[in-house]
Amino acid sequence: MSDDYQLETLALRAGTHRSQFNEHSEALYLTSSFVFENAAQAAARFAGNEPGNIYSRFTNPTVTAFQERLAALEGAEACVATASGMSAILACVMGLLKSGDHIIASHSIFGATVQLFANIFSRFGLETTFVSATDVNAWQAAVKPNTKILFLETPSNPLTEISDIAALGRVAKKAGAWLVVDNCFCTPVLQRPLEFGADIIIHSATKYLDGQGRVLGGAVLGKHDVIMEGVFGFLRTAGPTLSAFNAWVLLKGLETLKIRMDAHSANALELARWLEQQPAIEKVYYPGLPSHPQHRLALQQQKTGGGIVSFTVKGGKQAAWRVVDATRMISITANLGDVKSTITHPASTTHGRISQEARDAAGVVDGLLRIAVGLEALQDIKADVERGLKSV
Ligand SMILES: *Cc1c(COP(=O)(O)O)cnc(C)c1O
Repeated sequence: MSDDYQLETLALRAGTHRSQFNEHSEALYLTSSFVFENAAQAAARFAGNEPGNIYSRFTNPTVTAFQERLAALEGAEACVATASGMSAILACVMGLLKSGDHIIASHSIFGATVQLFANIFSRFGLETTFVSATDVNAWQAAVKPNTKILFLETPSNPLTEISDIAALGRVAKKAGAWLVVDNCFCTPVLQRPLEFGADIIIHSATKYLDGQGRVLGGAVLGKHDVIMEGVFGFLRTAGPTLSAFNAWVLLKGLETLKIRMDAHSANALELARWLEQQPAIEKVYYPGLPSHPQHRLALQQQKTGGGIVSFTVKGGKQAAWRVVDATRMISITANLGDVKSTITHPASTTHGRISQEARDAAGVVDGLLRIAVGLEALQDIKADVERGLKSV
């Protein structure tokens, strides 16, 4: 597919390989293995002397189509799809690092990612140092001779902190390490980290790439040798590959990604502006607001503020829970990236298992709420939140 095409076009057309039936929509290849013409072809495929599919733990045409389309959107040379976002991070680290290596990670990353680094990789001789998402000097100071990966999410969850991708790309380069960016919140529609100096991109395709809360999936993207020799080597052997069915759902999700991200962003910006004016609200966290401490940096890296708005209500946990419980339409669930709006109280759910001190240090206070703003009419979303705010 030509690199000259715009992102909207690539989202619909990249990765299209029609079968002998000339289907218009992408075919779904539900098969675990592939048949060879003869013994010699089987041998050539297994030896890697002839390209082609062998077994769906390695490759599958529907999965390949999704990988090619997402790679086109991120501007990446290569992409491997995984069973979930977490297995993308697992495959990235297991494929590229070895015992004795060191990772520097932002404090403000997805909870399961913290657990994976701190409690699981640590058992296999991989050490992780956690630093502030926003303090570039702290990342530099944490670099050791064996540092191999710098890992971050921007904007962060739930406080929408912005990490300076270009500055941290320079720190990584000097250290001889890879800068890995989990681009879940922005997607390539709003932010393309490779353009700012990131080496590897992680996706939880479960979120905006699907966009309708249907399937789990993930992906790792970057340079051809890093992805195909390192990450894919682990994946085809260890097996957390994406299923063909989920790949097909995700392919269809990518087709509407641009219009969804634009619509999520527009609704979120208006909701954030409105929340800022409500007397029951203490503070609003949204990178698209001029009041966000890193508003300028955010808009250098991202096209919009994205679809996630967090805010603290006056009156702590009781007041926050009252807002949650007063909703009639917004879904009370921790998922995000769905066309349906969702509301979460991070301190008692996603961040509930960490200590009060750690939560306070992270700024996840008891009055904090996060809304992943969906595509319902803004008026209805506001009305659903307003009912709760009135009772605070
Ligand atoms: C959800 C999420 C993940 C994990 O993805 P799964 O598909 O649930 O495994 C990783 N990073 C971020 C930022 C997420 O929101």
